[in-house]
Amino acid sequence: MVAPSHTSAKPHARVSALAGRWPLLGQRRPLVAYFFGIVAFHLVAIAFFAASTVFRWPDVIMFVALMVCGAVCIEATRRLGMPAGVSRDLLSAWWLPAALLLPPVYALLAPIPLQILLQLRVRATVLYRRVFSAAAIGLAGCVASLIFQSLVADPLSMARGAGTSIVLAIGCAVVFTVLNTALIAVAAHTADPDTSWREVLWNRESATLDVVELCLGVIVTIACALNLALLILALPPVVLLQRSLLHAQLQAAARTDPKTGLLNAAAWQREADTEIVRARRTGETLALLIVDIDHFKRVNDTHGHLVGDQVLVGVAATLRSQLRDYDVVGRFGGEEFVVLLPRADVAEARRVAERLRTRVGRMAVSADEAMVTVTISVGVAIMSIHGDDLIELLAAADLALYRAKELGRDRVCIPETSSRGQGSAEAQPPHA
Ligand code: GH3
Ligand code: MG
Ligand code: MG
Repeated sequence: MVAPSHTSAKPHARVSALAGRWPLLGQRRPLVAYFFGIVAFHLVAIAFFAASTVFRWPDVIMFVALMVCGAVCIEATRRLGMPAGVSRDLLSAWWLPAALLLPPVYALLAPIPLQILLQLRVRATVLYRRVFSAAAIGLAGCVASLIFQSLVADPLSMARGAGTSIVLAIGCAVVFTVLNTALIAVAAHTADPDTSWREVLWNRESATLDVVELCLGVIVTIACALNLALLILALPPVVLLQRSLLHAQLQAAARTDPKTGLLNAAAWQREADTEIVRARRTGETLALLIVDIDHFKRVNDTHGHLVGDQVLVGVAATLRSQLRDYDVVGRFGGEEFVVLLPRADVAEARRVAERLRTRVGRMAVSADEAMVTVTISVGVAIMSIHGDDLIELLAAADLALYRAKELGRDRVCIPETSSRGQGSAEAQPPHA
């Protein structure tokens, strides 16, 4: 994971031409400075520790064996593809043993060949991200290595079941994970200071994976200390775990709209269909809302597409934060969102739609010199009253939305009960 690009960077024309070829130059200055600082520190550390390390054959052989295992892992999962954006792997399983059992220079070097392999064989991403990832992992590993080896005289004692060594190895693995996460979080926050520290530092899914990686890393380290040949036994389960992890990420990516993180249209439609079938079977009510941002084209025209994108992200987050976990919310396309409210009747649907309208109206996204605010129009349709299946409900909500736009926008409309299928709609005056 590496820092995302920042939207408010406005490079000079020549710099912007350069930035096309060297995307790092298009980033905010503090991010560029941070990047060069970390990479320079990594290189200096390599030179410093390489000069003071006696390269012994058993160490070199262990290092090469671990890198070969990492390479096999990458090759074995390569054909599955890689989800767009930030993706996770289990390569720490090979970096941690290098950090804990070998002199610190190996921890600094370990991520380099594997990041090169990822870049060449899996996905050619922006080069500076790869370089930064290698530096962050290398430095985190080096610190873990220094701490562990200053506390444990004989790292191989883990293989004899020395409890203290194993506990210290776990502690140093935690240091490695925390430090690596922190180095990347600083980059993400520097790239986009508007994101909260909590957002860049904490994510439950990611923390669970960190724990899995940590456990795996310590187990492989003990196996390695016991006998290097045991890597042959460790490799298949790690490869299998890596494949299932990637598979889960690809599946999630296929369901998600990359810009907003909401369900994409196809996934929303599948989930909405399931809910409608369930509601029909149980006789429960259900409501469908179509939400459309008012005059969104003006936002793009006035502030640019990137600010427009931030508004879309903000609206999506506001919608999500105002809905229950089991409400199904998706991006239908462009600046249109769809929400399915299981068990909601007319009154509940109207209340929720009004709440969404008010909350989105209060939301503001900072552009260069101004705060951008938007309003939304919402079309509502209720199961059994305005339609019996998804197509009918969508058509009814769409007509209601059209009516809301006609009546002046920034309002919620529900079709008149008496005119089902006729397309007329009843306007709800906007609340203060
Ligand atoms: P109305 O109140 O009638 O809905 O007006 P509107 O301007 O919101 O609607 P219109 O359909 O005229 O324009 C929608 C705009 O949304 C045009 C399109 O460029 C923009 N848009 C669609 N998808 C995206 C996107 O992913 N990012 C950005 N920034 N703009 C988008
Ligand atoms: Mg619109
Ligand atoms: Mg629209």
